[in-house]
Amino acid sequence: MTTIAKGYAALGPTSALQPFSFERRAPRADDVAISIKYCGVCHSDIHQARDEWGGSAFPMVPGHEIAGVVTAVGADVTKFKVGDHVGVGCFVDSCTTCKTRNVDLEQYMPGLIQTYNGLEADGKTATQGGYSDSIVVKEGYVLSIPDNLPLDAAAPLLCAGITLYSPLNHWKAGPGKQVAILGMGGLGHMGVKIAHAMGAEVTVLSQTLSKREDGLRLGADHYYATNDAETFTKLAGTFDLIICTVGAAIDWNQYINLLKVDGNMVIVGIPDGAVPPVSAFGLVGARRSLSGSMIGSIKETQEMLDFCGKHNIVSDIEIIRIQDINEAFERVVKSDVRYRFVIDMASL
Ligand code: ZN
Repeated sequence: MTTIAKGYAALGPTSALQPFSFERRAPRADDVAISIKYCGVCHSDIHQARDEWGGSAFPMVPGHEIAGVVTAVGADVTKFKVGDHVGVGCFVDSCTTCKTRNVDLEQYMPGLIQTYNGLEADGKTATQGGYSDSIVVKEGYVLSIPDNLPLDAAAPLLCAGITLYSPLNHWKAGPGKQVAILGMGGLGHMGVKIAHAMGAEVTVLSQTLSKREDGLRLGADHYYATNDAETFTKLAGTFDLIICTVGAAIDWNQYINLLKVDGNMVIVGIPDGAVPPVSAFGLVGARRSLSGSMIGSIKETQEMLDFCGKHNIVSDIEIIRIQDINEAFERVVKSDVRYRFVIDMASL
């Protein structure tokens, strides 16, 4: 039987989020039914709810940092049982015709089905996300949340956590590596914690020093302000890896010059405007790379959750009631949150 879920939805690009009821499918043989306890508020929820990236479908229940408890499993489900702590991230299904499942890079495949603002495999039913009380997801897209992590602060790991873990893991942040995290927000603060736990020497590059104390507390070894021109002369040629989490259109060339020979700068934040042209000299002069990275595969997301469980890493959060979501959106836009809002679904 389908169930009626309660949530909050945007009815159009300019509407405030408001209470909304919709159907969740009855669990199939390979499905897991989840009672959502918490959902993180990601900046991309706002971009999509306001149709700032184009192509948004309404009504839209955002939310892809979902943490909850299993309430039912289909007959063929083997990995989960009722009562398990689980998470759902940015996608709930992917291509089954190409070999994506073998290469564990579902996030880059065209058949990816987003947790919300997408269409189910039937091509008709809209997917709806985690600003709601329940969700039904195929077993292969459900993540196990280690029992030692609190569900509320673990929720942001499902997007913010994996967005930083994946490039740090892929480009081997670790002992002896100089890693810079550019931007000290929801993404950046996770990068500091994870890179530190991986054993790298971590530098935060933030506009000002206003969050310096937090940065050092979370595991940064150094903290520099990018509004100080001296930062760029002092740190020239320093880093093996820079992860750029900034959502504003900044001049990447300044940061490319902070890389060592063979250094790599990875873009994970989507700029909200055109960035100045990238100069070839900065790249060819030291065999540097400029790369991009987007979330992570299911396999890597589980690895990240296990890593965070082992190192006791969660997000720094501010809990909100779902009735306050519109105000929270405004505060996220102003970067006025330390460092992630998480909705307590008990308020619904
Ligand atoms: Zn996100």
